[in-house]
Amino acid sequence: MSTESAPIANNFLRSIIEEDLKNGKHSTIITRFPPEPNGYLHIGHAKSICLNFGLAKDFGGRCHLRFDDTNPAKEELEYIESIKESVAWLGFEWGEHLYYASDYFEQLYQWAEHLIKSGKAYVEDLTAEEIRAHRGTLTEPGKESPWRNRPVDENLDLFRRMREGEFPDGSKVLRARIDMASPNMNLRDPVLYRILHATHPHVGDKWRIYPMYDFAHGQSDAIEGITHSICTLEFEGHKPLYEWFLDNLPVPSRPRQYEFARLNLTYTVMSKRKLHELVSSKTVSGWDDPRMPTLMGIRRRGYTPDAVRTFCERIGVGRSDSWIDMSILEECVREDLNEHAPRVLAVLRPIKVVIDNYPEGLVEEFEAANHPQKPEMGSRKVSFSRELFIEEDDFMEQPPKGFFRMTPGIEVRLRYAYIVRCTGVVRDVNGNLLEVHCEYDPASRGGSAADGRKIKGTIHWVSAGHSVDAEVRLFDRLFGDPNPDRGGADYKQFLNPDSVEILPAAKVEAGLAGADIETRYQFERLGYFRPDPVDSSDGKPVFNRIVTLKDTWSKK
Ligand code: ATP
Ligand code: MG
Repeated sequence: MSTESAPIANNFLRSIIEEDLKNGKHSTIITRFPPEPNGYLHIGHAKSICLNFGLAKDFGGRCHLRFDDTNPAKEELEYIESIKESVAWLGFEWGEHLYYASDYFEQLYQWAEHLIKSGKAYVEDLTAEEIRAHRGTLTEPGKESPWRNRPVDENLDLFRRMREGEFPDGSKVLRARIDMASPNMNLRDPVLYRILHATHPHVGDKWRIYPMYDFAHGQSDAIEGITHSICTLEFEGHKPLYEWFLDNLPVPSRPRQYEFARLNLTYTVMSKRKLHELVSSKTVSGWDDPRMPTLMGIRRRGYTPDAVRTFCERIGVGRSDSWIDMSILEECVREDLNEHAPRVLAVLRPIKVVIDNYPEGLVEEFEAANHPQKPEMGSRKVSFSRELFIEEDDFMEQPPKGFFRMTPGIEVRLRYAYIVRCTGVVRDVNGNLLEVHCEYDPASRGGSAADGRKIKGTIHWVSAGHSVDAEVRLFDRLFGDPNPDRGGADYKQFLNPDSVEILPAAKVEAGLAGADIETRYQFERLGYFRPDPVDSSDGKPVFNRIVTLKDTWSKK
């Protein structure tokens, strides 16, 4: 993993942990990644995963994967499975430390009774709306509920009957009895339990009442012995409540919450609601659409786990909200692929070239390096013959000044093969270009002129008889605006109309016929591509463009 070789950037959490280990507050650290299984993970989650698992790894501790599954109304098994797969794909292991908040429901229930018995929780009969109306505002204190001073025995009896399923959804809740005048709204008698007659994806039909996130999270941390409970900044205001529970319950350990700034990334949206919408409105093909910021999407597109981890390391961890430009993520992907992707020849929009003076039936093989800077990656043979395909835009009959690709009368190098000169074109009756004709210089075998004359342009090609058909999907950013998520505006108006272009008639060198779906290639001069792991088009391989060779957005 790159975390082993890359220098580790320091961050405030690292300093805190170092200090805690040095002064003996902890002998080992335990972190956790706590997704709610109500959707698929996205690149923002990757930041949290890399941080939690990364810190544990770097300090020789461990990180738990814990499903924060307190809301059966929105949670599904499918999400649980996909979350596990995505965390593993990123390269992290939780080993035997896979947990579910729902496994602690009995303990949480006992703790709720404990609060009731100590006069710190009560059963509320007000409706959700009334509770809201009683809550007050940031400048005004809330109003105490008439049920706040219910006797302990009555609270206990009602809460037990809530558990038995005696009351309908929404008719009662259990609230903590803290302080309706607290300047922190989270402490104004927060709801601890609600009634939900719902089947839970992990614990089934056992429960008719479910704890709220706040009542489950810190206590789950305490049960698991989490030392550093790391969450995003929006939970800062929940911290006093997190600590109130730890202070008022006989918990087995004392975790501490730390907050960091979430990842905000330009040219995309990350809210689960919006991602759901993109899928259900069929704006994208699914959660794993290669344009989606989901880990399933970028994985299918061809981003590597190494690149994502490098990205998370590079953006750092701080406590102030900031935006990260999409080009930083793309650059991490590009750097990784530039290093590891074998080079191949592919023609996306082919036009036919005939070399008139090349013997019919002759096939030559040229040695092509798999990586120009890495001889250890070896080479392969590419077949050359009289009929080839080149890229449509590598040919111009009437070129502007400075066009050094194929054009009548001028010599150009066919990569690895020969120098050729265009002699003319053949068009159909409608004027469509059918063929480009050339003559080759037999003395330029390998691509250099025997007399040392300089050839300005080099273009790529494939042999017509030695290439295979492929479909190529050119993916680009899903949104054309850096901040489609800005408040007030409909983010859908910022969708990039050119986020995918399908090229059904591409030609790739023969060796790619049975390409391994896990291999990412550089198509020379074109970009980085991988075989799509899901689709094929009438038996033809489908290649996804992972990223362009250069950043084409910064100029726009
Ligand atoms: P969303 O708000 O998009 O629905 P969430 O925070 O509700 O996401 P969870 O499943 O609760 O989704 O998130 C699991 C963990 O991932 C939490 O600790 C959360 O703080 C963290 N996380 C979520 N989004 C980001 C982000 N953009 N950057 C960093 N961490 C994130
Ligand atoms: Mg959340």
